[in-house]
Amino acid sequence: MKRKEKYIYRFGNRAVDGDESMREILGGKGAGLAEMTRLSIPVPPGFTIGTNACRHYMKQGCLPAEFDDEMAAAMDWLGRSVDRRFGDEQNPLLVSVRSGAVISMPGMMDTILNVGLTQGSLGGLAAQSGSLRFALDAYRRLLQMMGTVVLQIPKKEFDAVLDAARAREKVSTDSELSETALEDVVQLFNSAIFRYEEKILPQDPNEQLRLAIQAVFDSWGNERAEYYRRLQGIPDHLGTAVTVQAMVFGNAGWDSGTGVGFTRNPSTGSREMFGEFLANAQGEDIVAGTRTPLPIAALASKMPEVYAELASVVHRLEQHYRDAQDFEFTVEKGKLFLLQTRSAKRSGVAAVRIAVDMVDDGLISKFEAVTRIQPASIGEILSPQLDFSAGVPEVLTVGIAASPGAAVGRIVLSAEEAVRIAALPGSDPVILVSQETTAEDIHGMAVAAGLLTANGGATSHAAVVARGMGKCCITGAKGIFVDEIRGVMRVGDAVYSPGDWISLDASTGRVFAGRLPMCMPEEKNPTLDTILKWALDLKHLDVRANADTPVDARNARSWGARGIGLCRTEHMFFSTDRLPHIRAMILASNSDERRLALDKLLPMQQQDFEELFRQMSSLPVTIRLLDPPLHEFLPSLDEVKTELATVRKEGNQDAINRLLILSKRIQTLAEINPMMGHRGCRLSITYPEILEMQVRAILQAAIAVAEEGVTPNPEIMVPLIAGAEEMRWLRRKIDETATKIFEDCGVAVPYHVGAMIELPRAALCAGAIAEHISFASFGTNDLTQMTFGFSRDDSGKFLDSYVEQGILKSNPFVTIDREGVGSLIRIAIGQLRAANPAIVVGICGEHGGDPASIEFFSSLGVDYVSCSPARIPVAQLAVAQTAAIPIFDKESATQQLSEHFVG
Ligand code: ADP
Ligand code: MG
Ligand code: MG
Repeated sequence: MKRKEKYIYRFGNRAVDGDESMREILGGKGAGLAEMTRLSIPVPPGFTIGTNACRHYMKQGCLPAEFDDEMAAAMDWLGRSVDRRFGDEQNPLLVSVRSGAVISMPGMMDTILNVGLTQGSLGGLAAQSGSLRFALDAYRRLLQMMGTVVLQIPKKEFDAVLDAARAREKVSTDSELSETALEDVVQLFNSAIFRYEEKILPQDPNEQLRLAIQAVFDSWGNERAEYYRRLQGIPDHLGTAVTVQAMVFGNAGWDSGTGVGFTRNPSTGSREMFGEFLANAQGEDIVAGTRTPLPIAALASKMPEVYAELASVVHRLEQHYRDAQDFEFTVEKGKLFLLQTRSAKRSGVAAVRIAVDMVDDGLISKFEAVTRIQPASIGEILSPQLDFSAGVPEVLTVGIAASPGAAVGRIVLSAEEAVRIAALPGSDPVILVSQETTAEDIHGMAVAAGLLTANGGATSHAAVVARGMGKCCITGAKGIFVDEIRGVMRVGDAVYSPGDWISLDASTGRVFAGRLPMCMPEEKNPTLDTILKWALDLKHLDVRANADTPVDARNARSWGARGIGLCRTEHMFFSTDRLPHIRAMILASNSDERRLALDKLLPMQQQDFEELFRQMSSLPVTIRLLDPPLHEFLPSLDEVKTELATVRKEGNQDAINRLLILSKRIQTLAEINPMMGHRGCRLSITYPEILEMQVRAILQAAIAVAEEGVTPNPEIMVPLIAGAEEMRWLRRKIDETATKIFEDCGVAVPYHVGAMIELPRAALCAGAIAEHISFASFGTNDLTQMTFGFSRDDSGKFLDSYVEQGILKSNPFVTIDREGVGSLIRIAIGQLRAANPAIVVGICGEHGGDPASIEFFSSLGVDYVSCSPARIPVAQLAVAQTAAIPIFDKESATQQLSEHFVG
């Protein structure tokens, strides 16, 4: 007989069926509640319906047949646990129905409180609690939540009723409404529901419960949940768990309340309990940001015993989970209950600080600390700040620094506008300004440069989402008012319209009118340095820099780059003092004339290389010979024709002749498809003088700095190699040139010659090429273009559709395509190492700085990755994070692969 599948897992009141290891089935919230029960932390009892029930529901459109019995038994147990009965009019059990996915999705799904309350049990609840007002408040919340979440009645129907009630009673918050006002509110909510449903809210508690559970399951499939999952890469099939839990009441009076908090400051990472508390309130009141809560520290004076217990409980949670926690709690008539705990979302600055502190405390290892830092956090820490060097302008208003960073952009007042404007080509950045944000605004938040809200605290929806996105955000800027009717933002008497510039300094919460300059953070972050130092200790392959200038090289060195993996010499030809010579070289009619022009460039190139060698001292400097097609150095035909027309008018015959030759040359050099044309090493074969000049500049520079006492380590890299014969020819040319230089100078320096592998043919013939080189570097940008057969610059027109349709998982120019391009690299490395075990293998090109690609390269056992200087810390971290992933060591990799590819 098939064993009955279990759907329900209890927790609380000393019973517990699950634990943290069952996250997949219990969801994050359910697992946390089970684990807290195990730790004897006070939680209201309840049970979690596993994700297996949701998957059944999604597939079959209904709950499993055997579910009802299990559910009835669980409700019976729950009632006994708290001495109440579900559906009892005198002593009703009320529950919350909470969603809880495996990976937390803040604000994405809807929790319903006070389920089980009916007109019939209102009196019972009032008698029990001694307050009819309280019972009415609980009931109007149930009507509101069931109305909006389950019955999908527009929220404004309910808001309007409350707005009117507050206005009538001249109070500013719902918690101040009188009993009679709440009686009216309940009446009006009932009729609102009736207007839409032609019936009132079901008065059978079991019917309410069933509707609520199904609504949670349905909410897994709603648009914003789907959008969030796509944003975060969470698979759709996981489903959500539902937790049904006995209610405790934070709205039971002023000795009650509800709060959320963090065991450490989520913006700075400092060791302080951080959070907010709202007295006489329930559930969503605090997150909704409609009433501004008290800082959690205020509890210490208001309810000292509760505060002390809370501090000790959350400290235990942090020790137990060995990570900063984000928790939710409720106080009912002075008694504390924890309702949720999870690993805290935090800013990049906080992430590194917390990781380093936890190593100091002996809670986690250095390796764990390194693996806990998201590579994106580094970008966030090193992201620009407002530049106050010219003085601090007048502050428009100050809010809560909810998610650090800085942003300058144009005001938009709705998420739709933000999305619309961001999609316009060349549009300026936008700042989304609103009274408060809700989960529906997430599209707009994703495209905005920064967020500013008038309401809410450090834990409001906007704050939580912004921190998750690493986006700068200021909340609770009470000085602003978003006037939705007029479509403007007001600060006192001043009016700002959409499109006006505004600047946010979210590290301090200051808002400025106008467009302030930005700058890179000056101070180095010492905790980030500690993390990166640990990362470097863990590294098993080097990170080099793609650097063309001495400034880049110095920058790279200061980040600990282990050499230059790619110096693109063509960038050195574009400056105004050099362009005339390179043009003269291109226009030369014979090789003598060409040499003459190149002789002018030689000392300049030599100087460039000397400076690079000095900056990198003994570290390798990989210099790529000229790569782009020559016409890139010439003006466009149109420009020449316009100039020709002018000089014709002047009758300057010399100039006319010069321009005629130039236009002729431009026409001969023009190519249908320059990417696949006369470029790379093909130039060196047809114009060996260029190669000779560059090799001379490199080696003479090496000789010159060697005399200063520097140990240069030049690596000459040949671009766009297609096969072994080509490489052999070029190697001979380079060696001959070197021999001549060493004879001329009377000294020799060591140098290496390598190939850039960026054509599929080179990857497939790498074994034969290996005989002529001592290093190989994969130019993954070109290799991706050539393998897919589309150019990076043109692919913008269709790649998005490929990713949207799921044909490609991601943009292959950002993250390496493991299947295709990756296979070529794997094959090539196998051949290279089999042919020459001492060969050095590297990656240059954009992918060298992409964490997901680095993980792949690391598994192939490359010796280094090279990326732009700004990406170096990210790459170093990513490299260290792969340290625990088993890479097959080089020896066995060589053996394994050689069996496949050589012989
Ligand atoms: P979310 O996932 O949006 O945070 P939760 O399920 O955590 O939703 O519920 C939101 C809030 O509702 C909780 O923080 C808590 O304040 C309140 N809540 C949920 N269940 C209960 C309960 N059993 N008793 C009292 N309050 C509850
Ligand atoms: Mg919660
Ligand atoms: Mg290339």
